[in-house]
Amino acid sequence: MHDPEYFDQGDLVAVLTTQPLDRLLDYKAPEGGCFRGAFVEVPLGPRKVMGVVWGPGQGDFDRSRIRSVIRVLDVAPMRDEMRVFLGRAADYTLTPMSMMLRLATRAPGLGDPQSMRKVYRLGEGEPDRQTDARRRVLKVLHEYGGLSFTLKELADMAGVTPTVVKGLVKQGVVREEDSPRDLPYPHLDPYLPSKDLSPDQATAAEILRAGLQSEKYGTTLLKGVTGSGKTEVYLEAVAECLRLGKQALVLLPEIALTAEFLTRIEARFGARPAEWHSGVTMTERRRVWRMVGQGDAQVVVGARSSLFLPFRHLGLIIVDEEHDTSYKQEDGVMYNARDMAVLRAAMCGARVVLASATPSLESWANADAGKYDKIELTSRFGPSVMPDMRAIDMRAESMPASTWISPTLRQAVEDRRAKGEQSLLFINRRGYAPVTICRACGHQIGCDNCDARMVEHRFLKRLMCHQCGETKPMPDTCPSCEVEGKLAPVGPGIERLAEEALEAFPDARIATLSSDMFGSARALKAKIEEIAEGEADIIIGTQLVAKGHNFPNLTLVGVIDADLGLQGSDLRAAERTFQLMRQVAGRAGRAEKPGQALLQTFQPEHPVIRAILSGDENGFWSAEAAERQAAGVPPYGRMAGIVLSGPDVAAVFDLGNAMARNDGPLRQIGAQVFGPAPAPIARIRGRHRVRLLVKADKGAPIQDAIARWIAPLRLKGDLRLSVDIDPQSFL
Ligand code: ADP
Ligand code: ZN
Repeated sequence: MHDPEYFDQGDLVAVLTTQPLDRLLDYKAPEGGCFRGAFVEVPLGPRKVMGVVWGPGQGDFDRSRIRSVIRVLDVAPMRDEMRVFLGRAADYTLTPMSMMLRLATRAPGLGDPQSMRKVYRLGEGEPDRQTDARRRVLKVLHEYGGLSFTLKELADMAGVTPTVVKGLVKQGVVREEDSPRDLPYPHLDPYLPSKDLSPDQATAAEILRAGLQSEKYGTTLLKGVTGSGKTEVYLEAVAECLRLGKQALVLLPEIALTAEFLTRIEARFGARPAEWHSGVTMTERRRVWRMVGQGDAQVVVGARSSLFLPFRHLGLIIVDEEHDTSYKQEDGVMYNARDMAVLRAAMCGARVVLASATPSLESWANADAGKYDKIELTSRFGPSVMPDMRAIDMRAESMPASTWISPTLRQAVEDRRAKGEQSLLFINRRGYAPVTICRACGHQIGCDNCDARMVEHRFLKRLMCHQCGETKPMPDTCPSCEVEGKLAPVGPGIERLAEEALEAFPDARIATLSSDMFGSARALKAKIEEIAEGEADIIIGTQLVAKGHNFPNLTLVGVIDADLGLQGSDLRAAERTFQLMRQVAGRAGRAEKPGQALLQTFQPEHPVIRAILSGDENGFWSAEAAERQAAGVPPYGRMAGIVLSGPDVAAVFDLGNAMARNDGPLRQIGAQVFGPAPAPIARIRGRHRVRLLVKADKGAPIQDAIARWIAPLRLKGDLRLSVDIDPQSFL
């Protein structure tokens, strides 16, 4: 049965609102009727709230008490494909629809009438009296033909005060007009020439273009070492998408990468695309949302939440660095943008390109199983090659206590400096030292709210909890034994490594790159550009530098602690270490100069370290896949995490135990439940956390079973339950 598409005035309509109600509400269609999908304002108790007309009303209510929709908002109605997508995404992630709608409407003032602003253009006649200032204003207006300016733009360009412009307006020589504030994005031209592609690149681009021309859903894994030209290749897919008159979305894992990418789009298509992430102003967000909805933004470059923008003709989604863990949203709606991109594309017949030098095992397995197509770019573009990779066996290095740069690594850095080349020292840990210990009593300073240790940040002059963000000043006396002056840092963070490097290389120019050391993405970008232009001999960096920046003169990467990611019980520890080390190593030798990567390790014989060094990717992935298959874990089995939390530890455990006992719906599908156990971080912000893990076979309907399992629960008081389908992190 098909839902009607249009409702006459007075017809019952079911409206989904952003309020946490878990059901649709019935209203009467307003004067003039409304379309299915219309964004509307409805009364809810004493308030007015925003909603979307979802379908015909249920009518199981006293009709006379049903109120009317207040008004239909002046934005494009939600398309059917978006409604279906939100529904499927809600089912998959076990998220209430109201929360999905909130995710899809994260722009302010959508309900407001189009806001207008004053603009100024050339009017008629001559001013009564010519002055120098007036002449300059008219000159600017003549030079730019019929274009209009805001008051500030015009005054600034003419070098006059706004009063001068206003004076000309009074005489009609300059015309003042109202113009909508949210303007379409400039046109991107897909017919501008591309770079000359290498034969491999050209083949890859041709395959992607053919996919787009099919106008059917399909996902392609585009694998290629860093610098092989994946971006150049997928820009050709974007071009084809634009030629077909459709919109393209490019997801990037890190805001800091956006600026460089926008420049590349501009170089390729002649104008800048729309941008969507947490650093974009509220007014700009509203503009993006509206323009995407009316088809006046051809390309959006954004963070994961841009998947929920109201595209009109979405033809292509690129997920760059698809393996990146930041694609997984870990609170609120817990979704993986990579998986949701595939879902969304399947709903609207779009293509997906997953680009990575080191794909996730999930995507690797999907390509292996034939669900995704796979294209591989095997060589770097131009004369550069993958760096030579070696281990430094730390057991054989003799070094003073509390230092981390081995003599071998130090020598290698000196050699590069002698040649005028850059080195990167990589450590994946922010702050100065991960632990602060009292040398008198052994006490370690912890967070008051969490079961986590406080990390010293000298740059910020505070101790910080990386769990909850709580900070406090470094105490002079031990909080436990009250002895003074005995608190000491243990272990290295990036700031401490930078300090060691300053001593080891006193006359070198050293740049430290850590996300928390820059006030804004712009400041960080400026720094990165300086470094790329040679403003540093040695770069000290965290994970931030592993992602996509180009440093043409960088030829040595030293990984301070290659073992760091191998510890811990995380299912994906090996995979992540492998990806991260390969990515970091890929920073070396991007231009004509050959690069080298040196990994400091205490376990050079560890299979993961060996796989990284040998570059035997297929060997690594096959071994990793076999192990996971044997254990029945993702991607060969399904998992879900349930986190219960509350201020009272006993109450949280009681709930967990009751859930584990009443696991009927899970057993019906052959799933097992493990726990309750204290979550590895057992307390965050004063709330005790307990974890249950559900494990099922690959084909099992895990969402449905979990929904039936938790439905009867009544959460008392301050208890909270969250479900994480396909958890990324097991911490
Ligand atoms: P990846 O995305 O695989 O890391 P990029 O597309 O960023 O690789 O390419 C790496 C560098 O090589 C970039 O500076 C890019 O402009 C350049 N490059 C790649 N392919 C070509 C080409 N066919 N012609 C000119 N420059 C290219
Ligand atoms: Zn804390």
